[in-house]
Amino acid sequence: MRGVTILPMSTMTGPDFGARTTAILGHLDQTGQRKGLQVIDGPMGPSITLREFGEVACFCSNNYLGLANDPQVVEAGIEGLRKYGAGTASVRFICGTLACHEALEARIASLHDQEASYTFTSCWNANEAIFATLCEPGDLIISDALNHASIIDGVRLASVIKKGVHKTVYRHSDFDHLRERLEAAKANPDVSGQIWLVTDGVFSMEGDIADLRTLRSICDEYDAKLIVDDSHGTGVMGPTGRGTHEHWGMSGREIDLFTSTLGKALGGGAGGYMAGSKEMIDLMIQRGRPTLFSNALPATVACSADKAIEILMNEPARVAKLRDNVAYARDGIRDAGFEVLESPTAILPIIVHDTAKAIAMSKRLLELGVFVIGFGYPVVPEGEARLRCQISAAHEKSHLDTFLEKLKVLKTEF
Ligand SMILES: *Cc1c(COP(=O)(O)O)cnc(C)c1O
Repeated sequence: MRGVTILPMSTMTGPDFGARTTAILGHLDQTGQRKGLQVIDGPMGPSITLREFGEVACFCSNNYLGLANDPQVVEAGIEGLRKYGAGTASVRFICGTLACHEALEARIASLHDQEASYTFTSCWNANEAIFATLCEPGDLIISDALNHASIIDGVRLASVIKKGVHKTVYRHSDFDHLRERLEAAKANPDVSGQIWLVTDGVFSMEGDIADLRTLRSICDEYDAKLIVDDSHGTGVMGPTGRGTHEHWGMSGREIDLFTSTLGKALGGGAGGYMAGSKEMIDLMIQRGRPTLFSNALPATVACSADKAIEILMNEPARVAKLRDNVAYARDGIRDAGFEVLESPTAILPIIVHDTAKAIAMSKRLLELGVFVIGFGYPVVPEGEARLRCQISAAHEKSHLDTFLEKLKVLKTEF
């Protein structure tokens, strides 16, 4: 989640941890912002069993292709556990690289049409590693204002670890503003190194996409490298689910570096990766602190994710079914009388404006047997609270119809 809860400074500071934490949590309670964790008894799927609410149709998971509990994916994980054990008790460069890591990384590279790839225990970890490792003093990182929190923190970390790594932000998808930033960089003698432009492929709260064609041509104009975090786009966007670049008719090679997650469409377990040129990957193996000092992806996850990607590459029909489901749900949400943001992704935010209303609607939907999360301020701007609905290829017409029917009920009550 992006952003930090805004509290009056007087309640956040103070020497005593206990007192200030009580104040912070109390404030979250009072303003209806405190998150409760719903416990699921069983696997992720189009319908799931919540401990508190029983069986509900799930419309808030990133399980876009329904692979999280696919029998082949589960079986591959079990096989991986049998063959390799729980893990190596080592980081990659000492004695932590398994044959299944090598196989997975080759498959990821081919998925993205890149020379090489390297895996991490999360995409958060990958984003934390990338900027601090690839950038040097004199470089500039330019980031879209709505980029994921892991990119924001990764960029901040780079500028702290390596003094002289510059950073700047352009307004969301505002290319005039981006050009202003690039012109300013050109005129700044301190920016003497590589320029890096980083963007989400699919933006997670809006469900809109980056115009990668335009970004590519701007990057070419300024000799900048283009990094795309396609965590919500991989397995979803483009005719064969290769990602947001495929949606724009681009080949993977037109992107300098991808990052993405194995924790969404690609099996939903955990793990992340970078995919790019061999030299970028080589540098990461030599110098990346999270890869030098932290254990590798467990074999179970490496094997289940490898199977998930194999299924994606062999079964484009899953991506087509997802697209059909998204179109059906989008039309239905409009018919139910709600405002839904337009986009080609599987994230359908229903804008309800008021935060308390979004939370109340999400609660009511749970009672009605539909699981959708309401997001309000400060995760999204004030006045733009929403129910973020996410569609999966695992949804059958019956799930979608239940969802839409309950939305209609909701409309009569709010
Ligand atoms: C979900 C997400 C991540 C984090 O992925 P993990 O593998 O769960 O750490 C990173 N970037 C973007 C754009 C995301 O949507």
